[in-house]
Amino acid sequence: MKDLGLLFTYLQQPRRIVLLTHVRPDGDAVGSALALKLYFEQKGHIADVIVPDDFPDFLNWMPQSEKAFNHQKNPKTCFAVLTRADIIFFLDFNALKRIEALGEDVKKLNRPFVSVMIDHHREPDHFTDYELWNDKASSTAELVYDFIHLAGDSNLINKDMAACIYAGMALDTGIFQFSNTTARVHEIAAQLMLTGINVEQIHNAVYNQYGESRMRFVGFLLSEKMVILPEYKAAYMSITMQEAEKYKLNNGDKEGIVNLPLAMRDVDMAVLFTEDKDKIKISFRSKAEVNVEFLARNFFNGGGHRNASGGSSRLPLEETIQRFIAVLPEFQEKHHN
Ligand code: 5GP
Ligand code: MN
Repeated sequence: MKDLGLLFTYLQQPRRIVLLTHVRPDGDAVGSALALKLYFEQKGHIADVIVPDDFPDFLNWMPQSEKAFNHQKNPKTCFAVLTRADIIFFLDFNALKRIEALGEDVKKLNRPFVSVMIDHHREPDHFTDYELWNDKASSTAELVYDFIHLAGDSNLINKDMAACIYAGMALDTGIFQFSNTTARVHEIAAQLMLTGINVEQIHNAVYNQYGESRMRFVGFLLSEKMVILPEYKAAYMSITMQEAEKYKLNNGDKEGIVNLPLAMRDVDMAVLFTEDKDKIKISFRSKAEVNVEFLARNFFNGGGHRNASGGSSRLPLEETIQRFIAVLPEFQEKHHN
């Protein structure tokens, strides 16, 4: 792994920079990418963001979000942008397979480029020249703040950049409540607030954006679909494509739903199965010592963090759920840590 100092030297000349996020990009991924775009442009570089697919509508307020290229929608343009890159940043993920078809395009590039991973998920593949990786960091946005600080450019963090970094940290910490909320997170949040960001406006823009049908859908899920397994202190729910259609769920409407059962005193693990065209997407959340990363990584081809992970399954929905229930005894015994 190369020393970041060399990277900062390389960045003293104007470069063409491309910033990539993981699939189904969340607030941390998009906030990190846009904050870096704004930073690099101030430094005289050309910086483009490419997302593998859509991000939720509730992130559209982020400065320059409209300039992000969408690989799923415009693969040719994205490939052309990639082809010009001197340097590519991989943000909020740590294995090329996490960006699916976009990763295949990266592998096809025949021009040499410098690669940098900035990430906070467990068990990274070491596939880049440079890494700013720390699984103790609350978010990639926190590491982006550190990156700019290490480059000696904290004074360049303006209000627009601060809003992106703040939103990334806030979303990945569940608004400063999960166990990844460190003193450092609050210190950085305080610094960001000094740029004049309006935290209430950011919270409203991110959290209070649902339409009526999404609210009614949550009622339906909690009353009709939630299954509680008291012996494992677990609760799960599932969303079929038909239900998503019926309630006209748009991109982003499924965010946050997985957390709801954790509000129960006797539930330490919550799981959401979402049916997609070719696979089942699975989200895991847990409290304290319950390590859902183990479940996601070992049984569902995924990963993430101890208390928040994701994975997928190629089995039909019902079979996927049965598989989950079947592995619970072993999980309960060994991995409540
Ligand atoms: P979510 O449930 O919100 O999609 O994801 C929770 C956490 O797990 C996020 O930090 C996300 O990056 C990670 N994650 C989600 N899906 C996957 C996956 O398929 N593989 C890996 N390695 N991590 C995932
Ligand atoms: Mn993140």
